[in-house]
Amino acid sequence: MSETKKRVVILGGGTAGWIAANLMAKHWEQEAFEITLVESPNIGIIGVGEGSTPPLKVFLDLIGCKEEEWMPACNATYKVGIRFNDWSIKPGYESYFHPFYSKTDDHTIPAFFHNSFLIRQGVDLDGLPDHFFLGVELAKQKKAPLPAENFPFETSYGYHFDSNLLGQYLAKVAASRGVKYKKATVCEVVLKENGDVSHLLTDEGESIGGDLFVDSSGFKGQIIQQALKVPFISCVQSLFNDSAVVLPTDQVDEPNCQTTSTAMKNGWRWDIPLTNRTGNGYVYSSSFCDADAAETELRTTLNLLDSDVEARHLKFKVGRVQEHWVRNCLAVGLSQGFIEPLEATALDMVQETVVRFIEAYDKGQHTEQSRKDFNSRISHRFDAVRDYITAHFRIVSRTDTEYWRACGSNDKISASLYSILSSWMQGKNITQELEQQQLDAYFPNISWNCLLAGKGIYPDKSQLRKGNELAHKYKTTDINKFIKACALNYPTQADVLKRYTR
Ligand SMILES: Cc1cc2nc3c(=O)[nH]c(=O)nc-3n(C[C@H](O)[C@H](O)[C@H](O)COP(=O)(O)OP(=O)(O)OC[C@H]3O[C@@H](n4cnc5c(N)ncnc54)[C@H](O)[C@@H]3O)c2cc1C
Repeated sequence: MSETKKRVVILGGGTAGWIAANLMAKHWEQEAFEITLVESPNIGIIGVGEGSTPPLKVFLDLIGCKEEEWMPACNATYKVGIRFNDWSIKPGYESYFHPFYSKTDDHTIPAFFHNSFLIRQGVDLDGLPDHFFLGVELAKQKKAPLPAENFPFETSYGYHFDSNLLGQYLAKVAASRGVKYKKATVCEVVLKENGDVSHLLTDEGESIGGDLFVDSSGFKGQIIQQALKVPFISCVQSLFNDSAVVLPTDQVDEPNCQTTSTAMKNGWRWDIPLTNRTGNGYVYSSSFCDADAAETELRTTLNLLDSDVEARHLKFKVGRVQEHWVRNCLAVGLSQGFIEPLEATALDMVQETVVRFIEAYDKGQHTEQSRKDFNSRISHRFDAVRDYITAHFRIVSRTDTEYWRACGSNDKISASLYSILSSWMQGKNITQELEQQQLDAYFPNISWNCLLAGKGIYPDKSQLRKGNELAHKYKTTDINKFIKACALNYPTQADVLKRYTR
């Protein structure tokens, strides 16, 4: 190896490690970097991150993965948004959809904003997000978000995939870009006198030295949390869930392009359709429900009480490290933190962390100030996601169990979230509030509006009055006709996936 090569050592071969390896190998392909990923043969990956947000497509496009190749290899399907069932007991709001953005939505968003604002001024209008966005119709018709060539309006989308298979796929792509792979269990992180990481020691006595270390070792954060002792800031006071039980079921004939999140007694469960199976998981709080009760509730819901399919039980901690880039170590993935999986935001955080780090690193100013700016940017993003997810639980109208009563009355929410909720309740436009606090850094204004409107945080129907003609200027029938006509330009997901496997 040439003396001048910078050695990057990535600890961990979960999705986070492989995303980091690919982004770094791609960005620094013309530069003198040697990237090695170390993964233990004995410690498995978490293997449950199966839903994404739209930025994953940007990553896969960037590293040259074609949908027709990687999707069948990972049993993947398209995702145009998330349907939330049974979170609200308010009549008319028992189910709503949080869609990814489509360019055609620009024509219907003004109507949604207009109606949802006026309902809060007391006018009886239609304010359910489901009636205003193309993504909802695509999901209803099980269509793939790939418009015909003569319909030049882009639709953002994410994916559902088998995370084990995606990891293996990304490993191959990384290898083709020169990333080295080492199977070894690291038993010690050795620091230099000045506190930087010097090398990793494996249980076979091998020493792996590097200039830059990426900690993707999962929840335990072997370098960032254990060796460098960076404090972990828990957010369990605002987000109670810390456990999950996972059970697959058979695939459905025509998989849908939506994730479904259904409220349960002590949490919620996901339903993620892949081409070979459906992923199901119940995310719950162990303070309110034990593992056996959670498994039984999930089995009952899925009609698997008599089945011998084994369930997987997982524990997780919610929160983030105080700093993500410390000395010559960058934490990426579960080692840097995790906000519970309700909106499938974790991989996006991985991507953002690595991309912003590369930007900062390339500038060459490894000063305290540049690290500070980077850390505060990534932490702010974490906190913005935390607020959005916390809002899901705080505004819930279910009161049927102790868990939901505790969620709905939790006063340990952040000041930023408190201001947004107050602003909405007072009938104000929340745009300014979001911008002021930069809370739209991750979830844009439209997502916040969908969340609050979708859960029916409106005055009760009995308090609403008819309103004048101007208030009723947008006709739901016209909007519906427009959306249905747009949807005609999209193929079914089944047809697209069939084409990929031919
Ligand atoms: C219940 C649940 C549901 C989730 N759902 C989603 C979702 O829908 N969407 C989403 O984006 N994210 C989701 N996530 C998060 C997602 O699973 C993770 O962000 C993602 O899988 C990345 O994990 P990771 O690579 O950081 O860690 P892991 O997958 O845990 O990988 C850790 C790696 O480190 C290695 N390692 C650890 N210690 C050592 C050692 N001493 N020596 C050598 N190697 C070592 C292991 O071998 C492994 O390769 C979910 C998480 C949970 C808990």
